[in-house]
Parts: sequence; structure tokens; C-alpha cells
Amino acid sequence: MSDNINNNDKDDKDEYEKYCYLCRRPESTAGPFISMPGEIHICNQCMQKSFDSFNNGPMQYIDLSKMPNINMSQFMPFDDLPKSQKVKKRKKKEEKKEETPLTLENIPAPHKIKGMLDEYVVGQEYAKKAISVAVYNHYKRVITNSMDDIEIEKSNMLMLGPTGCGKTYLVKTVAKLLNVPLAITDATTLTEAGYIGDDVESILSKLLAVADNDVEKAEMGIVFIDEIDKIAKKKETHSRDVSGESVQQGLLKILEGADVEVPVGSGSKNAMTPMTTMNTRNILFICGGAFPEIEKIIKQRLNKQSSMGFNADLKDKYDKDDNIIKEVTNDDLRDFGMIPEFLGRLPVLFTLDALDKDMYIKILKEPKNAILKQYQKLLALDEVELLFDDSAYEAIADKALEKKTGARALRAIIEKFMLDIMYEIPRDDSIGRVTITGDYINGKGAPIIELRGTN
Ligand code: ADP
Repeated sequence: MSDNINNNDKDDKDEYEKYCYLCRRPESTAGPFISMPGEIHICNQCMQKSFDSFNNGPMQYIDLSKMPNINMSQFMPFDDLPKSQKVKKRKKKEEKKEETPLTLENIPAPHKIKGMLDEYVVGQEYAKKAISVAVYNHYKRVITNSMDDIEIEKSNMLMLGPTGCGKTYLVKTVAKLLNVPLAITDATTLTEAGYIGDDVESILSKLLAVADNDVEKAEMGIVFIDEIDKIAKKKETHSRDVSGESVQQGLLKILEGADVEVPVGSGSKNAMTPMTTMNTRNILFICGGAFPEIEKIIKQRLNKQSSMGFNADLKDKYDKDDNIIKEVTNDDLRDFGMIPEFLGRLPVLFTLDALDKDMYIKILKEPKNAILKQYQKLLALDEVELLFDDSAYEAIADKALEKKTGARALRAIIEKFMLDIMYEIPRDDSIGRVTITGDYINGKGAPIIELRGTN
């Protein structure tokens, strides 16, 4: 038992920083301490001041600035003294968690990856399945170093889906689950080398920075390039196309695998920036975009196909199909303006669904880290229960639908009405429960407040 206490004591001491009893500075700033029982610590400067104040005494000539940590209990039998007032402790900076690298043994199988994604990403079943299989295959090949032996294409991906439907979120979640570095970049910022803007190497620079400049770690990472549709070849352009086709061309070499000179620690190359070589063979590239109006191209193709031959369908059979984007093919993407060489390097193609009201409500309720759950936890710390009734979920979802910016709108809506709640509730200790209603969200009423002990 006493052993236990001692051990806990020791852990406690290791975990917390000491404070000077007199000047209140922590050990990290004030330097070595003289420690006495009862958790009293005094820094060398305060000790020096005390000694100096003994006017003309012998202590005046003692220089304590070079003293080591001294534990006075070694010299004095203070153990029986009562513990002093509780000293406020501050946690030492937490040491960085040791990350376990992916190995053949610990890489999760596709169904496990999908299962983990299910906890965070609502709906998007096909996309979750496709990405799980693709990352699994990719990392298995990377780990077994068989990227070259097998004649299978690299699992780089292209995903299509409207804004705010979870493309970035899906990639972020996968990278976190697999514990691999992830760099997110926006294709609109990329330009052909030599023009103002980022050149394609800057993407790798970002990845390197995320991997704490560890080249080996970065070479196992994921790069997500968003808004890829913005670098489509312009249909009729007479000017030189700097931001479109040539950027696609520029990306070709890094998508497939090449040694690339990358600036370390900054996105731009100049004479002062140190450079390093990164190989992109094992880096997984995922591109995403909304590809607005690609539906028109798909419909045109499908209508053309179905109106030919003996089995001719109605000419406008596909015009009313909302999920037509699922039928997308490389040909449609080529018509949209992506060059075939570029598409060829993104062999895994899949789409995400636009979010509907039910999905919004699920996003509010279900994910492990749902925003509303986070607020509930925060208020629970003040011992206040936060509830949402069904009409509240519906009202939030309706508002989000109106904004047409996908699930991104949810956070903005919630933050707006929660501001008042988070401001007012902790003011009044007697409040025990708050219920948010649809009327409150729509500005037609107040939340239902219940006092402690009334229920
Ligand atoms: P985009 O498709 O434009 O990349 P994001 O992935 O950035 O959209 O989504 C914005 C935010 O909306 C995410 O950070 C996430 O919190 C939320 N979100 C979007 N889709 C989903 C989803 N299917 N499940 C859970 N949360 C989602």
C-alpha cells in the first residue's frame, strides 16, 4: 500500500513542474531549486536575495547562481511536518507520443479501416469502401516494398463530390487512423514552375513539414489536392493557359513517382533555402473536386448512347436522375478538361453523395466527435445537461440546406446560437439543464431552462 503511495507520489512529481514558493516562477524559467519537505521549492535567485539581505553577513559572498537542484530533506528531518498549502502545479510539456509506424502486422484490413471511418464519416458508403481498399493496397505494397514488382497501378485516387460533403474530412480521417502524414493543398494555388504562385514541388515541401522534416516519413505520406477541377483545360482559350493544362502536366511526374528536389522549411525556392531529395513513388495522391456541371456531360453521353440502336430509350431518360454523377467515366472527365495522362495516374475513381437533410441530422448526432457532443461535454464540466429536441436538429439541418455549402454550414449555424448559451449558462449556478428547441434556432423563442433539483 505505502509502496503504491510512494509510486504515485513519484509519478506526480515527474509529471508536474515545480514552482518557486516566493516568486511563483516555474522551474523551467527560474532554474534550479532548493526543495524542502511540504513541497516548498525556492529558486536560486530568491535564495540569493534572502542571503544578500543579511547585511554584511557571511552569506553575502555566496553565489547561488550556479547551484544544482538541492533537496533539503536530505539534510533535515522535516518529514513529520504537515503538508503545506496546496501548491498549484503546472503540467510539464507533454512529451511527444511515440508514433507506431505502419507494418505488415498492424496495417488494418479494408473492413477495419471502413469500420473506423464509420465512426466519424456519415453516409458515403461507397467512398468509404473505395478509399479503405485503396489505402490498404497502397500501404501493403509500400511496406512490402513491392511497388515496382507488381504490375498494378499505384492507388492514387480521384474523388468527385459537391462542396462540403466530406471529401477532405474522409482523407483527414484516413490519415489520422493510419498515422501517416497528410498535406492538404489547393490546386488553384498551383502554377507552372516559373510563374507567380506555388509550383508543384511546394506540395511535397508541405508534406515534409508535416512529417517534421523527416524525409522517410514524408515519403510514406498522403497528399490531398483539393479543387482539382479548377485546373481543367479551358475549352476555348487563346491566351497561354498557365493555371490549367500545364499544371496538370507539372503534376504528372510527382503523381507517378520521381525524385524531386524539395525546399526544406519553406514553400519557395531561393538560393538560401536548403534542398533535399524526396522520392514520390510511395506517396499516395488523392485529388478531389466538385466538377460543377459535369452532370451535363454525363447526361449527354448517356442520352446519346441510349438513343442509338434497336433498344433506343427515351431521349431524356437521364435528365431527371439526381445521382447521375455516379455514372462518371474517364471520358466525361476528359471532356471536362482533364488530360488523359493525368487521369491515367489516378486510377481509383469514385464519387461522394450530396448531403440531404437526414444526413445532416446524422452528422449532428452520430459521429464520435460530433460538434454538439463537444458542447455537451463542455457544459457537463459545469454540471449542466445540454439537450436538443428533434425540432432543433431539424431546424439546424434546414438552415444548413439553405446555405448550400454542405456540412461546413452546420458548424457556423451551431456556433452562432451556442455563443449565447455558453455565455449565459455558467453565469447562473442554479441551472441544471438546457434544452435547445427548433423555435430557439429559428429565433422564435428561448431555450428551455430547468433549475437544479427540480427534476
Ligand atoms: P469537402 O467535400 O468540401 O472537402 P469537407 O470534408 O471539408 O468538405 O467537409 C466540411 C466539414 O463538414 C468537415 O470538416 C466535417 O466536419 C463535416 N462533414 C462533411 N461531410 C461529412 C460526413 N459525411 N460525415 C461527417 N461529417 C461531415
